[in-house]
Amino acid sequence: MGIVIENVTKQFGSFTAVDNVSLEISSGSLVALLGPSGSGKSTLLRLIAGLEMPDSGKILLTGKDATNQSVQDRNIGFVFQHYALFKHMTVRQNVAFGMEIRKATKGKVKGRVEELLELVQLKGLGDRYPSQLSGGQRQRVALARALAVEPKVLLLDEPFGALDAKVRKDLRAWLRRLHDEVHVTTVFVTHDQEEAMEVADEIVVMNKGKVEQVGTPAQVYDHPATAFVMSFIGPVN
Ligand code: ADP
Ligand code: MG
Repeated sequence: MGIVIENVTKQFGSFTAVDNVSLEISSGSLVALLGPSGSGKSTLLRLIAGLEMPDSGKILLTGKDATNQSVQDRNIGFVFQHYALFKHMTVRQNVAFGMEIRKATKGKVKGRVEELLELVQLKGLGDRYPSQLSGGQRQRVALARALAVEPKVLLLDEPFGALDAKVRKDLRAWLRRLHDEVHVTTVFVTHDQEEAMEVADEIVVMNKGKVEQVGTPAQVYDHPATAFVMSFIGPVN
């Protein structure tokens, strides 16, 4: 499902967190929102999700105006940095939860859960509890849970941010492969230039609530559009 953001502004009091942003995200792409802390990345993601309402502007999903649509009606899956799994439920129960509250049949839930565990490479760990998993495995359960309801859009807010460098690197490569298999439109937030470069088809560079540049990793790296992009993306020294 494609996402169109038209002149969206979001203020908190007198502070403008997202400042007249327009952006198109094409269906099936894997896009990174990249920028320093406080640049409005999470707010923009929450606006797409319907967790925040814009003060002005429009959000279209599949060409239809979704600005006033509820979170539930947007058919979106989320994963956050500290996405708590249900501690008293096994991996399998965690993944099944969203389907069960949507009243899917038992047979359908069972088959889909096994499929998803295979997809996130956690086959065999379905009966474990979250406390018996590593941080990287927990985030993969969170991804399987988000995908369980067959969302049209997957939104990830610094999904690997809390993990150590080695695990983060593995999960990046894994997210790329997962996306190549599932093709769900995915928007992920990161402040890590390398992560955005390595994983995304397209990078949206944000600063102070505005979009500075949109382009492929190569375009953004080779032809930074603004001084900010140049200093933020430029070769690390
Ligand atoms: P990022 O994800 O890029 O770090 P955020 O979108 O979380 O940035 O926040 C952008 C700015 O908006 C920050 O300065 C933050 O303090 C402010 N902000 C975000 N959410 C709220 C809120 N609910 N109430 C007040 N200020 C907020
Ligand atoms: Mg954030």
